Amino acid sequence: MNPRIDIHLSKLKHNTKIITDLCKEKGIEVAAVTKGFSGISEIAQAYVDGGARYLADSRIENLKKLKDISIEKIMLRLPMTSQVEETVAYADISLNSELETIVALNNAAEKLGKIHKIIIMVDLGDLREGFFDEVELEDALLKMKKLQNIKVIGVGTNLTCYGGVIPDETNLGKLVEYGEKIEKVLDTKLEIISGGNSSSFHLLEQDRIPKKINNLRLGETLLLGREAAYGELIENTHHDVFQLVAEIIEIKDKPSHPIGTIGRDAFWNIPVFEDKGIMKRAILAVGRQDTAGASIEPVDKNIDVLGASSDHLIIDITHCDREYKVGDEIRFNVGYGAMLALITSEYIHKNMID
Ligand SMILES: *Cc1c(COP(=O)(O)O)cnc(C)c1O
Repeated sequence: MNPRIDIHLSKLKHNTKIITDLCKEKGIEVAAVTKGFSGISEIAQAYVDGGARYLADSRIENLKKLKDISIEKIMLRLPMTSQVEETVAYADISLNSELETIVALNNAAEKLGKIHKIIIMVDLGDLREGFFDEVELEDALLKMKKLQNIKVIGVGTNLTCYGGVIPDETNLGKLVEYGEKIEKVLDTKLEIISGGNSSSFHLLEQDRIPKKINNLRLGETLLLGREAAYGELIENTHHDVFQLVAEIIEIKDKPSHPIGTIGRDAFWNIPVFEDKGIMKRAILAVGRQDTAGASIEPVDKNIDVLGASSDHLIIDITHCDREYKVGDEIRFNVGYGAMLALITSEYIHKNMID
């Protein structure tokens, strides 16, 4: 069925195995992040089979889909106070930075007869979530001590998401110090020191990650076989776990430059064109509604992506060795943004391949 996204489950399991093994060598367990594929449980199972210790997602709706997989689940986005009951019901652990929310989680956990575990988030300069002021943190910790249904089990940070700050020995060293401080105030031993997302992976490869860090939350690294600080591919992993397949609905020789006065395109941009003369152009039945205009890369290297409107993708097939016909399929490797959009689009068939 077209258009579709082919999902190669054995390749994802392979990536997970390679990467969790590398992590284990350094004493690090992996929380495998499922939000890139909307928490589809069949895909998450490949993570579990590959050696993930936890599953993690930023949306409750996705964690709900994972309820029948028995490993521990982590809620990544700070819970909404309006969703504390669902959070306690579907996540064993959540990341938190607001005392108010933690109190609400405690009440929800009490109601459900559970102990909810939390990881305290600290902001080391990327300026997204996390405690920033140490006095505020200490004060909040003292109040958390009194909550019967909350257990603080870790500290974590998130980098390279808003501010683009790259993890290094200095900021992750600070995370370890925060961990020690929390242990002192709460008089407890933390189980989890979570050193970030796929942008921390290069430190592990370079043996630069502080010793006490024992957890990473990885999505992109497992899904695309790529670390996220510099975009380097990881050796011995697959980069084509997810592929977009779309069908040709028109092939014609046409000019490369539109004819007439150029105003605005369908997305209100003023387009600019290079005149390359007559080219062989194909239209595919997929569009920006499905890919969000994010990066896709044709597997046939001789294809050039020219552009897209909501439901049409236009490619240049002038230099292809293969003689494409209407009805043929074109295959693309996808980046994180395109993967996210394709998985979310109800028009894209999800095709699981073993
Ligand atoms: C999305 C997310 C991750 C995973 O990010 P990747 O770059 O895909 O590894 C980790 N932690 C938090 C808090 C997140 O929101």
